[in-house]
Amino acid sequence: MSEPDELKVLNPATEEVVATVPAAGADDVAAAVVRAARAQRKWAALAPADRARLLRRFADTVDAHIEELARLEVREAGHTVGNARWEAGNARDLLLYAAGGAERLLGRQIPAPGGWNVTFQEPLGVIGVIAPWNFPMPIAAWGSFPALAAGNAVVLKPAETTPLTALRLAELALEAGLPEHVLQVLPGHGHIAGRALVDHPDVAKIVFTGSTRTGREVMERCARLVKPVTLELGGKSPNVVFADADLKTALDPFSFLDNSGQDCCARTRILVQESVLEEARDLLADALAAVVVGDPADEKTQMGPLISRQQLERVRSYVPEDAPALRGSAPDGPGFWFPPTVLTGERYDSPAACEEIFGPVAVLLPFTDEADAVRLANDTPYGLSGSVWTRDLGRALRVSQSVRAGNLSVNSHSSVRYWAPFGGYKQSGLGRELGPDALTAFTETKNVFISTEGPAQ
Ligand code: NDP
Repeated sequence: MSEPDELKVLNPATEEVVATVPAAGADDVAAAVVRAARAQRKWAALAPADRARLLRRFADTVDAHIEELARLEVREAGHTVGNARWEAGNARDLLLYAAGGAERLLGRQIPAPGGWNVTFQEPLGVIGVIAPWNFPMPIAAWGSFPALAAGNAVVLKPAETTPLTALRLAELALEAGLPEHVLQVLPGHGHIAGRALVDHPDVAKIVFTGSTRTGREVMERCARLVKPVTLELGGKSPNVVFADADLKTALDPFSFLDNSGQDCCARTRILVQESVLEEARDLLADALAAVVVGDPADEKTQMGPLISRQQLERVRSYVPEDAPALRGSAPDGPGFWFPPTVLTGERYDSPAACEEIFGPVAVLLPFTDEADAVRLANDTPYGLSGSVWTRDLGRALRVSQSVRAGNLSVNSHSSVRYWAPFGGYKQSGLGRELGPDALTAFTETKNVFISTEGPAQ
């Protein structure tokens, strides 16, 4: 069967078609890379201050379209409108932050006998960014904007279910005055357009966010070309709650319900000290019952639908109807709805306790003491995120140092801040995005030795 050459974008809250978008094939990717390579040379040759000025103008243009971008994200991804506004604002803020970096991409001067060694951070060239559907706008931004600031061109393939905000961001870039072809968005199928980007010899680096399974394939294919890769993959993050914690805040169900649980940082393993397990169960039951699930465009809604029928079926497969669980409610009818759920009868090694479900489902598991908490927190092939809740500062520090994950929060559930590095240990990924070093990840370090001996007489 031949592949369809169009992508139908569905509103996951209604199942209505929002838009139809042409799907790029391998030839389209190849042509985009040629255009990008040409544009990149001029972009990199601009004075850093001019590149920074254009990126700031792009940020202003995004700022003027926050509401439009947010409403688009609501329609194509089912995000609550409040979250979607934050996401558009995050893209703007990252542009401003990265723009500052364009003028601070510093090299080093290293003392050497007979001369100086000087290092330069040079742009890589054309960067391929492959984004998933769970946070279409922020993840497109995290992969692309620091790369642009460092003088690269970007070819971005959004997820086939959610191409619209990325396409709009590329239009806004042009409106703001960024040169043509410096930021190109090519919607398409992963195994066609995504693979073509990964395999293209003139794409200097791939930034991939998505499942560990696909990430592994991307890395294998990049290895054939010795192509660098940044991978932001799955998670099964712990929420470690000690008996002395502020239990109500620690057990905020939005630690795993945000974006309907379709969040690689979701704290889906709720590890609670056994002396307060009953209290924790009661608090979670009340909190789940109070979650407002419904139309994501309504300001009062706290949780929207899942992205697709496929994702709904996947989530359902982990939650048999008779499974012991605390459950909230969800609408019936069209749309991909699943209620907020905490499974209470899981074994530590059951699939629901070990695998990334990527829906509004967490497991509640007890631990005995600090050593047991650390052991359980680390008992996973993933290592992306997690929280530690305790009033004992020494314990908070010990546990934070012992948990092998890239992004931990103490007495907080936050994970991603554009000014701090983000990425995973173990099978949660490779490399870091965001933070003060984000631009460097899109450069090669060149060392030049300058002799002070003078020309030979
Ligand atoms: P994938 O990892 O397959 O997709 C992520 C991106 O990669 C999409 O743009 C996809 O395109 C693209 N892609 C797919 N196959 C290839 C390939 N062979 N080469 C290059 N690019 C490719 O995730 P899924 O969308 O299939 O979701 C499956 C599961 O992955 C979810 O249920 C969830 O558990 C997990 N996931 C985790 C994410 C995270 O951030 N941790 C994000 C998304 C998913 P296309 O859209 O066409 O498939």
